[in-house]
Amino acid sequence: MISPQRITRVAGYGMTQAADAYVYRPTSVEEIRSVFEEARASGRKVTLRGAGRSYGDGNIGAESLLIDITRMNRILAWDSASGIIDCESGVTIENLWRYCLEDGYWPPVVTGTMYPTLGGALGMNVHGKNNYCQGTIGEHVVDMDVLFPTGELKTLTNEDDLFYAVISSAGLLGVITRVKLKMHRVASGNLDVWAEAAKNWDEQFALFEKYEHDADYMVSWVDCFSKGAKAGRGQFHGAWYKQREDLGSRVASNQDLPALILGIFPKSVLWRELKLFCNRPGMRLLNAAKQFASSTIGNNKMHDQSLVAFSFLLDYVPDWRRAYEPGGFIQYQTFVPKEHAKAVFAQQIRLQQEYNLESFLGVLKRHRPDRFFFSHAVDGYSLALDFKVTEKNKAKLWELAHKMNDLTLKNGGRFYFAKDSTLRPEDAEQYLGDALHKFRVFKSEYDPEGLLSSELARRLKLS
Ligand SMILES: Cc1cc2nc3c(=O)[nH]c(=O)nc-3n(C[C@H](O)[C@H](O)[C@H](O)COP(=O)(O)OP(=O)(O)OC[C@H]3O[C@@H](n4cnc5c(N)ncnc54)[C@H](O)[C@@H]3O)c2cc1C
Repeated sequence: MISPQRITRVAGYGMTQAADAYVYRPTSVEEIRSVFEEARASGRKVTLRGAGRSYGDGNIGAESLLIDITRMNRILAWDSASGIIDCESGVTIENLWRYCLEDGYWPPVVTGTMYPTLGGALGMNVHGKNNYCQGTIGEHVVDMDVLFPTGELKTLTNEDDLFYAVISSAGLLGVITRVKLKMHRVASGNLDVWAEAAKNWDEQFALFEKYEHDADYMVSWVDCFSKGAKAGRGQFHGAWYKQREDLGSRVASNQDLPALILGIFPKSVLWRELKLFCNRPGMRLLNAAKQFASSTIGNNKMHDQSLVAFSFLLDYVPDWRRAYEPGGFIQYQTFVPKEHAKAVFAQQIRLQQEYNLESFLGVLKRHRPDRFFFSHAVDGYSLALDFKVTEKNKAKLWELAHKMNDLTLKNGGRFYFAKDSTLRPEDAEQYLGDALHKFRVFKSEYDPEGLLSSELARRLKLS
C-alpha cells in the first residue's frame, strides 16, 4: 500500500502542465530498486525527475511513482590532474562549477540555468552556447551507471549502443545513478565577451558564420516583434576563454551574481516588476528598449565577464517564470539545417505576428549533429521562443505551434523534448525515424513491463 502522504502536485517548469504523483526521494540504488518493486506490486508507472527544469511534460507522470533524484547528490571522486569527476546523478551543474572551478575546471557543457541535475541533463542530453564546437553533455561522459527497471545495474561507455539510447531517452529506459564526466580546463574564471548588434536576419546569420571558427560560445537575442527590413534584429554575443593564468581573479567564491540590481533593487522581487510588462505592449516596449541599448551603448564592445554571469543569465532574476502566472508559458525550440534556417525562422516569426502571438523572447544558437537516439541537434541553428499561455490564447497558440512544427519538419528540422509541449505522435515519428524503432527494441529488452513512463511518453506514444 503506497502512502497517500506521498501525493504531491508536480509541474513542468513552464507551469502549463502538472500532475499528482507519489513522490519518492531515494538516496541509494537499493532504494530506487525498491520503488520499481512497489510500482510492479501496485500496477503503477514510474516517472523520473531531476531538478524539474524541463519546460513541458517530460518530468511529470499522473498517478505514477515519481523518483526525484535530487538527494543522490554526492561527489564520489575528483581528480584535478585529469579533470575527471565521478558523482551521483543528482549533482547539479551548480555543484560541479562550485566544486571544480577552484582547481581551474568548468563543466564542458552548461545550460542557461545552473540548476539542472546531471541525471536530468543526460535524460534530455542538453546543449550549451558551445554546441557547435563541444557537442552535447553526453559527449563528455566517460562512463555512467544505469539501473534498469528489471533491477539490472550496468556501467555504460560510448562504446555501447545502449549508452546512446539511454542518454537523450527522457528517462524512459533506465535510471542514471552515477556519472563520470570530463571537465573542461580553464585558465581564468572570466571570459572575453564580444557584443554586436544585428539589424536583421542577414546580419544575425553573418555574425554566426564570422565567429563560428574561433569563438568558444555564441548566442544571439532576437526581437520577435520587429518586422519588414528590421525582422530578425537583435544582439549577438561571442565569448572566448582567456588564455592567460588569472584564475585567481574569479575563483568559485566570487562568481556569485549580486543580490541587488544597480546596487539598489533586490533581485528577489524583480519578477513582480517583470509581470507588469508580461503582455504584448509591455514586451514590445522591452524588446525595443533592448534593441536601442544593444545598438548604441552596448554595441561593438569586448568586455570581461565571469563564467557564471555569461552562462546563467536566466538565473539573474530568481523566480522570473512567475511573471507568466497564472497560465504559465511554453518554450518552443526548433532546430533547422543551416541551408534553411534563415527562411524557416523568418517565416515562423511572421506567422506569430499574423496570429498576434509574438514570442516575448527569442534566442538563436548554432548546433552540430550527434549520434544520440533522440537527438535534437542538426548542422544548423535553433530558435528558442517563449510564449505566454492563457485560457483565452491556448487553442490559438497550439494551432500556431502546429503550423511552425510543419515548417520545421518540411525543412528537415528537429525538436527537443526538454522544450516541447505541442508535438503530436506523427511529428515525433517523422523526425525520429529509425531511432524510434531502435529505442523501442531496447525498451522491450530493458523495461519489458513498460514501467518507465511520463506525460511526454504518453502524449507522443513513444513506448
Ligand atoms: C531557465 C532555463 C534555461 C535552460 N537552458 C537550456 C539550454 O541552454 N540548453 C538546454 O539543452 N536545455 C536548457 N534548459 C532545459 C534543461 O536544461 C533541461 O530540461 C534539463 O533536462 C533539466 O534537467 P533537470 O535536472 O531539471 O531534469 P528534469 O527536467 O527533472 O528531467 C529531465 C528528463 O530527464 C529524465 N531524468 C531525470 N533524472 C534522470 C536520471 N537520473 N536518469 C535518467 N533520466 C532522468 C526525466 O524523466 C526527464 O525526462 C533550460 C531550462 C531552463 C528552465
